[in-house]
Amino acid sequence: MKNFKPFQGFSIPKLHPNGWEVVYFLNPFCSGTCAHCWSADKILGSYMPVKWHISFFERVNFKKIRELRITGGEPLEYKKISIVLDKITEKNKNFQLPIRIFTSGRNILSIKEGKEGIKETLDNLLSVGIARESVEIHLSADEHHAGSFYDYLTGRATSPKTLFEIRKRNQVGMKLMRIAVKNFLTACKQLKKIVPRFRGCYLKIHCEKGQLNYHRNTYSFITDQEWKEHVIATEGLFDSGRALQLENTISISSDKYPPIFIIPGAEFVLEPSLHERYERYIVMENGNASGEVYLVPNSKNSKGAAIIGFYNLMYNYFCGGSVNEALRMFLE
Ligand code: SF4
Repeated sequence: MKNFKPFQGFSIPKLHPNGWEVVYFLNPFCSGTCAHCWSADKILGSYMPVKWHISFFERVNFKKIRELRITGGEPLEYKKISIVLDKITEKNKNFQLPIRIFTSGRNILSIKEGKEGIKETLDNLLSVGIARESVEIHLSADEHHAGSFYDYLTGRATSPKTLFEIRKRNQVGMKLMRIAVKNFLTACKQLKKIVPRFRGCYLKIHCEKGQLNYHRNTYSFITDQEWKEHVIATEGLFDSGRALQLENTISISSDKYPPIFIIPGAEFVLEPSLHERYERYIVMENGNASGEVYLVPNSKNSKGAAIIGFYNLMYNYFCGGSVNEALRMFLE
């Protein structure tokens, strides 16, 4: 087995002039049942104690980054997210970089109508500790997240298996999501008045091809202006993970300015042990495959893994290394 160089295949000139977009998998797990989930089949690390995350952000030089995305899995299922955000806020004090939290919102949304629902959402946002300066909350509100939200509310833990069942469930979910989104948008508007420099929220709609009008009609209470400013919509699901059971998946092209993904509680190894869960990554040299490495979940040695580029992450091209190497080479 050939050895591998960290971040092989990456050339520095691709770096954005304002620095890195860092995507941080705070919580590798998610109890959601979205039918289009690409991350359900990926290794996103292992649960790591809060001190691991704190020491990572302690080392990051915020001058080297342009934005930070906190994701997973479901980041709001990480109980101590607020403590991690304390450290990030402290480090970000002089930079005011956007801290974007990507969530399905299952544990913050309310389906009560009117003032009661807005208040419940507002209280939830405050109690999880994410409403703070520089933070922007990105709520996934497409049909599959709506279906997953419905499962959460009814206590179902697995995604339905047939397309018919998925669509039926999603439709019911969208009716509830409509109420929840209305509450969420109003709650975030109120938070902007209460929390200094809170950046507010966005709706993220990653829907199937041809489904955008359906979403626009469902969320008809959003004005065109607000839609332009607060909705990030993409049509077509990534051809990966659970989405492969659906129609109309699309392939991903490589980014002009690739982000760097930080995967706490994972590690690249030359050979996985027999009983280990692993994901195979192809090592490229001069445009040709020259070997393989394996990404394994490993919380014991605390190394962590890093991968550059969404394309590489999704199609398993090795452009990675340990978190230590990523910090030393790019982020310190
Ligand atoms: S797509 Fe759904 S199931 Fe997958 S990580 Fe996000 S919320 Fe969880």
